[in-house]
Amino acid sequence: MITLPPHLEVRDPRFLDLVHPMSQLERIATGFTWAEGPVWFGDHQCVLFSDIPNQRVMRWSEAEGLSTYSAASGFHNGHTRDAQGRLISCRHGARDVVRTETNGAGTVIADRYEGKRLNSPNDVVVSRDGAVWFTDPTYGILGNFEGYQAPPEQAARHVFRVDPATGEIRAVVSDFTQPNGLVFSPDERRLYIAESGSSHDDSVPAVIRQFDVDGATLTDRGIFATIDCGLPDGMRVDTLGNLWSSAADGVHCFAPDGTLLGKILVPETVANLCFGGADGHRMFITATTSVYRIFVGSLGAENWTRP
Ligand code: MG
Repeated sequence: MITLPPHLEVRDPRFLDLVHPMSQLERIATGFTWAEGPVWFGDHQCVLFSDIPNQRVMRWSEAEGLSTYSAASGFHNGHTRDAQGRLISCRHGARDVVRTETNGAGTVIADRYEGKRLNSPNDVVVSRDGAVWFTDPTYGILGNFEGYQAPPEQAARHVFRVDPATGEIRAVVSDFTQPNGLVFSPDERRLYIAESGSSHDDSVPAVIRQFDVDGATLTDRGIFATIDCGLPDGMRVDTLGNLWSSAADGVHCFAPDGTLLGKILVPETVANLCFGGADGHRMFITATTSVYRIFVGSLGAENWTRP
């Protein structure tokens, strides 16, 4: 009988291959208001993440610890990297998705749809064909806590795809209450999107929906999983196809068939996570005022194709 530390909750024996009984849940940084949008830079051995209400992007590395990557950041939220390793950011302040070029210049990828300003881009992924997919809920314009209060100009809270060749922005899903985190399966034939609408409306189910992907087209395949504590926000997938989702009580790990395998219990509400570390076997968890780190047995699918 394996004795597990209190921060690991096993729901299925398969979870034992993905965690370790000696793993520690380390709080590596704290002092934030709402930590979000972690992204791993293997080429710099550091993780960047947002502290949204304080308008700053932070940097943490094993060697150098915590520092401010950018201040007065304009309410950055989710981050990812493209195949060239460039940073892609969602910004509530400017209500856009921006790419940071290797020379530091910013290129706006999307800020309007059908001539109207976006709500407040929340989270973003890049597919292998170079398309940028992002969610556009209203959290950043509901008040002045994590953006600038404004009435929405969009008729819906869309999920968008930006074409890599033409730059055209197209709504690919439009029936979410509040779409939030999104992530592809390792083969990119499936896209998972978090519904976080229960944040403001109890009647909205806290679910992760799944869509088949055919180029630029999505086909709704229904509910992948339901979050039984809080709601899903940011998510990542490992190379085995397991989906790791944020939740109020920690990180929930689901098998590719949607079975809840287990949880990493975290003492603060989790907003997002990413894989990283020198050997790839670390998960960085942004959870309200802190960032946590823990060993995981699998590797992030995203890191497999990014620097
Ligand atoms: Mg989010």
